[in-house]
Amino acid sequence: MKSVAINGYGTIGKRVADAVNAQDDMKLIGISKTRPNFEAKTAVEKKGYDLYIGIPEREHLFKEAEIEISGNVEDMVQKADIVVDCTPGNIGPQNLEMYKEYGVKAIYQGGEDHNLTGLSFNSFSNYDSSYGADYSRVVSCNTTGLTRTLSTLDPLVDIVKVRAVMVRRGSDPAEIKKGPINAIVPNPPKVPSHHGPDVKTVLNGIDVTTMALLVPTTLMHQHNLMIEINNDITTDEVIDILEKRSRVLVVDASNGLGSTAELMEYAKELGRNRNDLYEIPVWRESINIVGNELYYMQAVHQESDVIPENIDAIRAMLKMEKNNEKSIDKTNKAMGIL
Ligand code: NAD
Repeated sequence: MKSVAINGYGTIGKRVADAVNAQDDMKLIGISKTRPNFEAKTAVEKKGYDLYIGIPEREHLFKEAEIEISGNVEDMVQKADIVVDCTPGNIGPQNLEMYKEYGVKAIYQGGEDHNLTGLSFNSFSNYDSSYGADYSRVVSCNTTGLTRTLSTLDPLVDIVKVRAVMVRRGSDPAEIKKGPINAIVPNPPKVPSHHGPDVKTVLNGIDVTTMALLVPTTLMHQHNLMIEINNDITTDEVIDILEKRSRVLVVDASNGLGSTAELMEYAKELGRNRNDLYEIPVWRESINIVGNELYYMQAVHQESDVIPENIDAIRAMLKMEKNNEKSIDKTNKAMGIL
C-alpha cells in the first residue's frame, strides 16, 4: 500500500484526494490547506482526512476556526511516497525544493510548465515515460481532452495534421471573481495558442495547431477539431473506435445531450461524486469525414477529466503497475468511469 499526500486542496486537489481514497492499492495520508475555510472543515470533519497546514504561520487561524490539524506541510511530505501537487500554477517551483529535500516523488498539474519536470503525463499516450520517474506533470484539462481523443484515433486514422478551436469556460463554478461575464475573449489572442505544443509533450510527433477563446460559462470547455487524414477510414469506423475507448463517450445530441448543460445534468443522473464527468463526451452527430478531413466536436469537464490521469500517474511513478491498460481499468472500476 503506497502513501499519497495532496498538497493544495482546491478544485483539483479535493477530487484527487477522493479518487485516491477510492483505490485499494494506495492510501491517502493527508491533504494540505492554506486557509481554514469550509473545505478544510469538511475535509476533516466529514471525510476524516488528516489536514496539514500549507503556511505554518497560519496555525492560529486553524485553531481559532476549531479545525483539527495534524502538522504542517513538511510533516505530511515526509510521510508520503508521492505528493500530488495541486497548488495553483507557478507555486510548483518552490515546492519542488521541498520535495527534493525530503526525497519524495511529486506529480504536478497543468498550470505548471512542462520544463519544471521535463516530463508530462497522459494515461493513454505516454504512461511508460513516467514509469519510475521522480517528477512528472499531468497535462491540463484541455490538453488531456485533446489527447484523450487524438490518441484514440492516432493509431488507426492516418493523421496528417490537426487544427482545433477551443471554446474555454471563463472560470470554474465556484470562482466568483473571474470572468468574462459578457464577452467573448480570444485567449490567448496569439495564434496558435500554447495548447498545441502542450499536446506534443504527451503525444509525440503529432502536428496540432490550436486557437482558443474564453466565454461566459463555468460548466465545461468545448473543442472543435478539424483533422486532415490520409487513409480511407469511414465515419462509422471512427465512431466505432471512439465508442470502444474508455474515458471517451460518444453522446447523441438527439438524445437530450446537445449542450454542456445537459452533459452536466447527465453526470448528476449517473450519481457521480461531485457531479463529475471524467469522460470526454464527443457528439456523434458532429463526427464526419468530408473529403480528406475528419471533423468532430467534444466537451471537457475541466474540473474532473484529469483526476483519473493523476491516479494512473501515481501507479506509473511508484512502479505499482507496468501496464497502462491495467492501471486505467483499475482506476475506472474504482471510480465508476465508463
Ligand atoms: P484552486 O485554486 O481551486 O486550488 C488550489 C488550492 O491550493 C487552494 O485551496 C489554495 O488555497 C491552495 N494553495 C495555494 N497556495 C498553496 C501553498 N503554497 N501550499 C498549499 N496549498 C496552497 O486551483 P485548481 O483549479 O485546483 O488548480 C490547481 C492546479 O490544477 C493548477 O495547476 C491548475 O492549472 C490545474 N488544473 C486546474 C483545472 C481547473 O479547471 N480548475 C483543470 C486541470 C488542471
